[in-house]
Amino acid sequence: MKKLFGTDGVRGVTGIDLVPNFIVRLASAIGAFFGERSKILVGMDMRAGGDAIKRIVEGTLILSGLRVYDAGYTPTPALQYAIKTQGFDGGVMITASHNPPEYNGIKVIGPHGIEIDRDEERVIEEYFWEERFRVVDWKEAGESVVRYPLVNDMYVNAVISHVDREAIARRHFRILVDPVNNVGTLTTPLVLKKLGVKPVVINGTLDPFPARLPEPTPETLAETAKAVTIYKCDLGVGHDGDADRAIFIDEGGRVHWGDRSATLLAKHLVVHRGERGRIYTGVSSSTIIVDVLKHFNVEVVWLKVGSVDIAHTMRKSGDALCGFEENGGFMYPPHQYVRDGAMTTALFLELMAKEGKRASELFDELPQYYTIKVKYRLNRGLALEVIRRVEEEFKDALLITIDGVKVVSRDYWLLVRPSGTEPVLRVMLEAKTENLAKEILERVDSIVKGVVGS
Ligand code: MG
Repeated sequence: MKKLFGTDGVRGVTGIDLVPNFIVRLASAIGAFFGERSKILVGMDMRAGGDAIKRIVEGTLILSGLRVYDAGYTPTPALQYAIKTQGFDGGVMITASHNPPEYNGIKVIGPHGIEIDRDEERVIEEYFWEERFRVVDWKEAGESVVRYPLVNDMYVNAVISHVDREAIARRHFRILVDPVNNVGTLTTPLVLKKLGVKPVVINGTLDPFPARLPEPTPETLAETAKAVTIYKCDLGVGHDGDADRAIFIDEGGRVHWGDRSATLLAKHLVVHRGERGRIYTGVSSSTIIVDVLKHFNVEVVWLKVGSVDIAHTMRKSGDALCGFEENGGFMYPPHQYVRDGAMTTALFLELMAKEGKRASELFDELPQYYTIKVKYRLNRGLALEVIRRVEEEFKDALLITIDGVKVVSRDYWLLVRPSGTEPVLRVMLEAKTENLAKEILERVDSIVKGVVGS
């Protein structure tokens, strides 16, 4: 059966993949999945085609017999929070998250506020391909879409309720926010104001043609980082399109990956908030988290790459301190089990307030590693053979084989995993010195050459 769902929702280019007929069939399958009379909350971010897609989805759900509520423009975590707390049976978010502007997509959310799991996605795919749809009788088609405009306010108040407002307000922070011309602009600046922080917002108008690419990375945030120094801000935060990710920029204009900020946040939860539990993250995250948190007896659980699986594992285990991905998605369970850009930002401000240190000082206290990321074009069979030989070559180190192979040693870690979406083998490694990093890469490189040549 052909898959529709990628790592998080169904994505495609508007007008090419996302055409009316496809959207109607997908929404019909989603309607069949939730069932008649289910209460569904629909939200959207600002992307080309978003409003049209939302109307098609809502109309189709109504004609499938569901009760549909419309939250309008809202970040994914705000919609998820409302679904979880306001008695909805589920929801649909129209977004392509961090993808380039020509993409849009549909995330399906369960009653717990988390994107549906892999088994549930397969059910929707089955309904889609077998066209097991239901259309209501005219006598049942009298429902209208109900406007539900309270979502963003509810969410902002929930986020600020989790942190020490007085401690943050006393510091008179100035924080730069870059919501990439998308829905984060409706909530994160408001969170900051309510915490007594002065927000400086760039790329803050809602615009389907954003001023930078939506994925927050050191490259796409280069201009944002300059603005942090020009406006003399204490911190900068870059969101992705639907504002579930937060990548931080220190006051000196350095952009820091999410596994580094998550390490600081996890330590903050233990040291300043007295919280306990295990940390859940994908194997692509740095082992810095282990180096730092082992001093507090906090265990790290390595999982397959993908935030949806991490969220569901955390919810089932019930013992999570937090969860995260290196791309800036951070999950704080007392609030919700999903990535949340504004919650992450509020917690980071609380950390800065409690430590009384600049952001750059906090990041500099982390162990320093030399990082290399490369990829090889290899089909899946060859990629798996490389992984087998890497396991052999590094058999004396700790091997984690949940998703490709992660080799963990005292002075370095190495991840070799096949991409889920393209014929590519990804290699990530970090080592305490540049020489060691290069030496490890050479060993992997010669394994790849051996496999390709054989
Ligand atoms: Mg996102």
